Amino acid sequence: MHTELPSYEEAAELVAAYAVKPGSIHPSVELALAAGRILAQPLVADRDQPPFPRSTRDGFACRAAEASAHMPLAIAGATRAGAIPSGPLQAGTAWEIMTGAPVPSGADAVLMLEHVEAGGGTVRLLPPRTVKPGENIVAQGAQGRQGDELMAAGTPIRFGQIALAAACGYAAVEVFVRPRVAILSTGDELVSVASSPTPGQIRNSNAPMLAAMVAAAGGEPWVLPTAADNAASLDAALVQAATADLLLISGGVSAGKFDLVEPALARLGARFHFTGVRMQPGKPTVFGELARADGSQALPFFGLPGNPVSSAVTFLLFAAPVLAALAGNWENFPRFALARLAPPVERHSKSGLTRFLPAYCNFGASADQPPQVSFVPWHGSGDLSALARSNCFLVVPEDAHSLEAGSLVRILLL
Ligand code: AMP
Ligand code: MG
Repeated sequence: MHTELPSYEEAAELVAAYAVKPGSIHPSVELALAAGRILAQPLVADRDQPPFPRSTRDGFACRAAEASAHMPLAIAGATRAGAIPSGPLQAGTAWEIMTGAPVPSGADAVLMLEHVEAGGGTVRLLPPRTVKPGENIVAQGAQGRQGDELMAAGTPIRFGQIALAAACGYAAVEVFVRPRVAILSTGDELVSVASSPTPGQIRNSNAPMLAAMVAAAGGEPWVLPTAADNAASLDAALVQAATADLLLISGGVSAGKFDLVEPALARLGARFHFTGVRMQPGKPTVFGELARADGSQALPFFGLPGNPVSSAVTFLLFAAPVLAALAGNWENFPRFALARLAPPVERHSKSGLTRFLPAYCNFGASADQPPQVSFVPWHGSGDLSALARSNCFLVVPEDAHSLEAGSLVRILLL
């Protein structure tokens, strides 16, 4: 490239601005199997939530004004969860009630069991305590009225969404079909994990790594046979990958003599959005798209540098947001957080490159302190052991000379 490379932020903006539509919809996935999928329909309340004024405590439903005057109230009846009170609450009475049970009409508060004295068929709020109207009652429909949209299409389904869908009567939900992500490893030196490498060969670790990352990000990995470092092999592999929704190519994008991926993509008429980023690792990363013969949505592709740490970081930063958009997931990717940098601190000279260094964050460090992050010592972007010992990446901004121990730093979450 003759032009100056974009900064990490500029490259991230190009990715964020890249518009893709999610694919087709799976019309009915059993709720129990829907965790990890993306909701493709608005989820609508089939009844008010809660469906009745609901007691949040075990105790006595009452009129707040009467209870706060500390009158003894005659216990007129009892309701357990699942039952319906037999009638409205009469003046001067209280109604025994369990957590989750409907509050009888006429009552406007629930006295907690712990706050009353009960005996001889009456109950009295213990002075000096008083109770306000509405206390310990969730009003009917407070969380949503019948017909309200409670979740929008695009919401990732986790346990909370499963619970709400169940409460609203969805035994099955519409979800987006997972995008199919082709994973193409390139390199004459690669053998599969099941093979015994000769002294000059290495096992292909990127394909299984990227497959795991794709699956975790809501895609369906499609691992293609490894392509050799020659034009014919790459051309054939790229043709094979053309039916995917997203294409990830690992290796072959550096400036070396056998880095032939970019020319192969160019031969197919690729449009490049960037061919390199001012970052480390990951500088040779390529992002572009291939038009499709039938004129449908273009095939986005990423050329990820072959070194494993580079492939992992650039997947998280650039491929994951496009994959999320293709999956219909409206959440933001990549995900960053702030953490306190623990010593020892590696010093950095000004590099002009945003750096993403393998790091380990202790998220449970302390109740009143941010999480604590430390560098994982590493031997460069080929260091798989460092990658395996890390649980985040520490972001060193382009213009940072060093990061001070104890300072708040940005981390990229996996
Ligand atoms: P490249 O980006 O093709 O120049 O590769 C850079 C380095 O990453 C080389 O040392 C490769 O051996 C290594 N590498 C490339 N592809 C893979 C892969 N699929 N699995 C593990 N290491 C790889
Ligand atoms: Mg290579």
